[in-house]
Amino acid sequence: MEKNLDNCVFCKIVRGEIPATVVMQDEHTLVFMDIGSVNPGHMLVAAKPHVENLQGMDEDLAGAMFRAASRAAKAIEKVFKPSGISVYQANGVAAGQTVFHAHIHVLPRWENDGLTFTWPVKNPSREELERVAAQLRAAL
Ligand code: 5GP
Ligand code: ZN
Repeated sequence: MEKNLDNCVFCKIVRGEIPATVVMQDEHTLVFMDIGSVNPGHMLVAAKPHVENLQGMDEDLAGAMFRAASRAAKAIEKVFKPSGISVYQANGVAAGQTVFHAHIHVLPRWENDGLTFTWPVKNPSREELERVAAQLRAAL
């Protein structure tokens, strides 16, 4: 696994070369406030090593990322008592990723806070679900 990249903004934050408002960190992750926060309390859980996306994480890192996201969500719950909490994690351009260093968004949600997400349901048949699941099982 490549450890970090000279020109990656989140690697620079991990190395302390550019400022960030850090909330917590552990061996594998750094949690800091999103400079483009959608709502107050919006945090990013970033991998400490440079991995581009979820597919690039080993199991220890993947576990640590979600543990940190859960801790961040608990802190949001205590501080804001929001009406919801969203977790968002983008891999690749089509998924909306803009910083190609793996991270998870954790943010408080409120009714009508303007964050929208379309979910174009296709309702595939059971046969189709089984066919795709068999392909995925074989790839695990
Ligand atoms: P993505 O679209 O890749 O999931 O989200 C990248 C996020 O990183 C955006 O929400 C953006 O506001 C945040 N971001 C980009 N550059 C910086 C930075 O230099 N500092 C911080 N704290 N957040 C950043
Ligand atoms: Zn990086």
